[in-house]
Amino acid sequence: MRIGILGGGQLGRMFIQEALKYDNEFYVLDPSADCPSANIAQVTLGNFNNYDEVLAFGQGKEVLTMEIEHINVAALETLEKQGVKVIPSPGIVKMIQQKILQKRFYKEKGIPSPNFSVYRKGEAVPDRSFPFVQKLNTGGYDGKGVQVIENKGQLSLLWEEDSVLEDLVEVKKELSVIVAKNENGETRTFPVTEMVADPELNLLDFNICPAEISPSVGLQVQNITRKFLSCIDSPGLFAIELFWDKNDKVWVNEIAPRLHNSGHQTQEGNYNSQFEQFYRVLCNLPLADTGHRAFSGMLNLVGEKGYEGKVIYEGLEEVLRLPKTYVHLYGKKETRSGRKMGHINVVADTRAELVKKLSQIKSGVKVRSRGQRDM
Ligand code: ADP
Repeated sequence: MRIGILGGGQLGRMFIQEALKYDNEFYVLDPSADCPSANIAQVTLGNFNNYDEVLAFGQGKEVLTMEIEHINVAALETLEKQGVKVIPSPGIVKMIQQKILQKRFYKEKGIPSPNFSVYRKGEAVPDRSFPFVQKLNTGGYDGKGVQVIENKGQLSLLWEEDSVLEDLVEVKKELSVIVAKNENGETRTFPVTEMVADPELNLLDFNICPAEISPSVGLQVQNITRKFLSCIDSPGLFAIELFWDKNDKVWVNEIAPRLHNSGHQTQEGNYNSQFEQFYRVLCNLPLADTGHRAFSGMLNLVGEKGYEGKVIYEGLEEVLRLPKTYVHLYGKKETRSGRKMGHINVVADTRAELVKKLSQIKSGVKVRSRGQRDM
């Protein structure tokens, strides 16, 4: 099969690494010639937000997919009409791209998600309770385009852009569940994962799987995933990001229509990884067993603040001495503050052992550059 991917970043790279064990050809569309997928796929240089470039890239591909949702949907719609298989469907990507449509979808389908109102640029701010979270309708990523408005006095900080204003949830834990559906309608769900964020960078920092949750929370997650899978008419692999609040209620924060950072530990922690599963989805094969072998966790290797330039991974050799520990680098030559450069997966027999190892590794590994400081 000729499989085309919009975006040649680390998600695409790890997917291709896994899928290379089957017989296929991989093509990526990316603006950078040395993107993470460059060594293992044929790169077409271009902009995945440009209609003509996406349309041209899709020609001759049997399956077209994406590793980022900020892409040109209109071109995908045209390609689909021309007979190219597009997974996930352009319709679902369009809905997810726009926070307003995404929130309306949850409401319509009875999927619990924080209450919201819509704010349109140039119109009056809707009358609502404080505090609330403003989320830009389009273009948000890795926590950018999200801000908390605490009280009336802070309304002057509101971005004048189309957005969703939603209730601020008192979060106990952030959870994620990765689900898959193939064209035959078969579905599979990975175990629930806990996501622990770095408060400063607003980027995912740790994953712990399976999550420590009560039966009631587990049941709520199960109901949400079942409902979501039953009301989408598109094959795909999706990451459902959830809030578990102080009252033990579970809410959907957002859904990503693609491979996700919260599933990286499946590479060694589960019988099959999210990447293997995604391959099965794209080729409409029987879906893979998602069971976990042990406790597993992931630590993002993120560029340290203050360092910019050619990357140096300090302390990595020590990590390689540890048992049940796996290093994954993304092939990015240059580091900068907050850039995701790789990750480390750890497998352990108990949760306590896992958390201990992850914290040790976090304090021992630094992503820096040689003496070049950008401060
Ligand atoms: P992005 O898509 O850019 O990652 P998110 O919508 O996931 O943005 O928001 C980023 C982070 O902001 C979340 O992971 C969470 O920690 C916090 N957040 C977002 N919405 C809420 C909310 N309604 N209540 C509490 N915290 C929130």
